[in-house]
Amino acid sequence: KEEVNIISGALDLRKKTVKDVMTKLKDCFMLPINSVLDFDTMSEIVKSGYSRIPVYEGSRGNIVTVLFIKDLAFVDPDDNTPLRTLCQYYQNPCNFVFEDVTLDVMLKQFKEGHKGHMAFVQRIEEGDGDPIYETVGLVTLEDVIEEMIQAEIVDE
Ligand code: ADP
Repeated sequence: KEEVNIISGALDLRKKTVKDVMTKLKDCFMLPINSVLDFDTMSEIVKSGYSRIPVYEGSRGNIVTVLFIKDLAFVDPDDNTPLRTLCQYYQNPCNFVFEDVTLDVMLKQFKEGHKGHMAFVQRIEEGDGDPIYETVGLVTLEDVIEEMIQAEIVDE
């Protein structure tokens, strides 16, 4: 029965981590901050279908902010607005979590809402010197809920 599945899914949230359900960095649709919001870039964003786009500076692992699709409402592609200008205007913060955070904890944080419903997953690389934080993927509320109901949510 579906209810039984949901209850067992909810109980299993404590056993799974964000790493188990995240979208890997290499599969993320992201933009470099030095992009220009011309017609081509804006079409690509719309075609991607995502409502939040991580923005990086330099390497893909260095995520500095998030672009929300709604931030594009007043952008005219003919103006060739630099993405950096828009990012500086909105300054949407990014939320980071460690890869071993369990899904019940992640769900609680998403429910609280103030950090948004997307988080970037980080791994600590223990080396000889200072630990290095490496971003390995992203996780959203949808990923956690799918795990709870043990079914794929088909996107609109
Ligand atoms: P959206 O509102 O953009 O559809 P959701 O939060 O509903 O995003 O997430 C749907 C799925 O897409 C999740 O598996 C999530 O990890 C993944 N996802 C969200 N944003 C991106 C992105 N920019 N690039 C790649 N995958 C993403």
